[in-house]
Amino acid sequence: MFDIDVSRVVWANAAALEIWRAPSLDELTARDMGVDMSPAVAERLKQYQRDFRDHNASFFEHWTLYPHGEPVTLDVYFSGYAFEDGRMGLLCEARRTLEKTPDRLRSADALVHTTVMITSYDADGAALFRNPAARAATPDGTAPLAARFADPADFAALTDAMRLYGDAQRSARVHTATGPRWHEVTARRATDPLSGAQTILVSEIDVTDLKEAEERAHYLANRDVLTGLYNRHFLLEQASRRLSDAAGRNARCGVVIIDLDNFKAVNDTLGHAAGDQLLIQVAQSLEAAAADRGFAVRLGGDEFLLFVEAVDGAADVDRLCGDLIRRFARDRRIADIDLDVKFSIGASVYPEHGRTLTDLLKNADLALYDAKESGKNTHRLFRPSLRERRETRAQLENDLIDALEAEAFELFLQPRVDAASETIVGAEALLRWRRDDGGYTSPDVFIGACEESGLIVPLGAWALEQAMREQRRLAALGHDLTISVNLSPRQLETPGLAEMLGAVRATTDGAADRIELEITETMLMRDDADTLAALDRIRALGFKLAIDDFGTGYSNLVYLQSFPITSLKIDKSFIRTIGAARSVAGLVLSFCDLLDVKAVAEGVETVQQRDWLRAHGCAEYQGFLFAKPMPMRAFEALLRGPTSNAA
Ligand code: C2E
Ligand code: MG
Ligand code: MG
Repeated sequence: MFDIDVSRVVWANAAALEIWRAPSLDELTARDMGVDMSPAVAERLKQYQRDFRDHNASFFEHWTLYPHGEPVTLDVYFSGYAFEDGRMGLLCEARRTLEKTPDRLRSADALVHTTVMITSYDADGAALFRNPAARAATPDGTAPLAARFADPADFAALTDAMRLYGDAQRSARVHTATGPRWHEVTARRATDPLSGAQTILVSEIDVTDLKEAEERAHYLANRDVLTGLYNRHFLLEQASRRLSDAAGRNARCGVVIIDLDNFKAVNDTLGHAAGDQLLIQVAQSLEAAAADRGFAVRLGGDEFLLFVEAVDGAADVDRLCGDLIRRFARDRRIADIDLDVKFSIGASVYPEHGRTLTDLLKNADLALYDAKESGKNTHRLFRPSLRERRETRAQLENDLIDALEAEAFELFLQPRVDAASETIVGAEALLRWRRDDGGYTSPDVFIGACEESGLIVPLGAWALEQAMREQRRLAALGHDLTISVNLSPRQLETPGLAEMLGAVRATTDGAADRIELEITETMLMRDDADTLAALDRIRALGFKLAIDDFGTGYSNLVYLQSFPITSLKIDKSFIRTIGAARSVAGLVLSFCDLLDVKAVAEGVETVQQRDWLRAHGCAEYQGFLFAKPMPMRAFEALLRGPTSNAA
């Protein structure tokens, strides 16, 4: 009888004294067994103590003792013995092992010491034997095999495989004394050496660390780090499998690309941390939208994708996109600011719009492009005409590059007139593309493509150079006019703008104060430090600045004061309202007066408009009423007047 807590024998019979080579019981009980006990054995005894207490367990094991250093091998039957004070002691009933085969002894010893968990179950799954490692890992010593598995499917798969092949192996989540763990479980059918009955021999190794490392690696390979959504890699891997699945079931899938309309502005004005937060919020909304219908992916930047399965054709995908726009419509609170975030969405449907992911992506992208062109914050489905349009667009871009090289562009001039005196005080330079048939193509057709392809940067520089040369030439003829030149948003964003302006001024020896650069309201709305700095640099070089198409954007009027502006060009849509009941043209004029900037009316087509403008103090105007834009030579002739023209 052994007191585990103090590592001492409490009582022993005569045979036990002999095994321990003890002259008396007093000598044996006086021995401190803990002195040369290995920590592993001490730990095991503690485990026995718990098993006795909690499960009333008993074990039969081979043990080797070392009384005075000499090994004695025993077959021991261990059971619990409750002392009077309630503590649990160990009752050892042993007999010298008759088996003298050393291998048997060693294998039995190994079984006791190994960290591999080994259990023998009877055919019904009740435990017959557990080695110490298995006992330590099993929370309930009486638990049958089936109850060990967290997922019943693992047990089912294991028994199925055993029935078929005799043995089976599986990584499974199992219940253990230290909570759920991953075990590599090997099970095989065996025969009980005692009874000859069918048994199941199960060995388990803890592979939790390995499994978690593997899962982490898998997660990282397939996820976007910022938002936790799936990434492009996952999409490529999954899509082909899911598409061929759909083909087999004769089902449809939807590929939906979602793009934030004004993400750059959020990043620019609120900083990258706020931008990140917005992306995370969007990712969460998309994940919820994907739910059990498919999966959401971050393609990169502010572009996301939804892969939806089992859709009911194009109309269903269209409805889904509409739902998305509505779901996103609510304001998002980022960095204590309520942001009105808008989205453009393009979608394609399998198999109508493509049979491979590549085609579906390309076509959804075309639809997205269409949504952006139709004013953003909307959704579009792919249709074949989009592809043609893209091809035409690509062709147009090529033609424009050729045109710039072949000097097929020309600057027209439209007179700007002093409203009171009806004399020409300036001109606006407007681009034209000379066609082979001698006609001209309007900038409305090509400015957009130039803007997008970046061609506007060299083309804009070319236009400025032409305008500055013409200004000098006309001045030499006695007409020192101001010529206005349009500046595109893309040019304003280009870092080298000021350098370009300075260089053109130098090569043409032009007068910067006779050149007015027109920028649109929307370019000011961005209100970032970079734009302001660019405008200041333009002013420092001596150029004048005008706001073009005023009234088509949504400028904060008060804000306009902070920009170094000389003229404000009132858009033709405003001029058209003159004479109508609710015209605000008068209001805009008094506003210009207040800000002390020159009001210039655009698109004046009728005498009534001109007279009204004149009566209400508008300084200058431009419009078909006075003259349409014309080639430079014609403009020069107009300046010389009817007499010299006739001559
Ligand atoms: P914009 O700067 O607002 O130019 C005024 C436009 O109004 C011109 O169209 C002009 O022909 C037109 N217009 C003038 N008077 C009247 C009128 O009485 N009635 C009507 N209905 N229209 C009138 P255009 O020449 O077709 O140019 C269109 C736009 O293309 C310009 O609008 C400008 O934004 C852009 N653009 C033209 N040249 C350049 C350029 O060199 N660089 C850049 N970035 N943009 C340019
Ligand atoms: Mg203009
Ligand atoms: Mg304009």
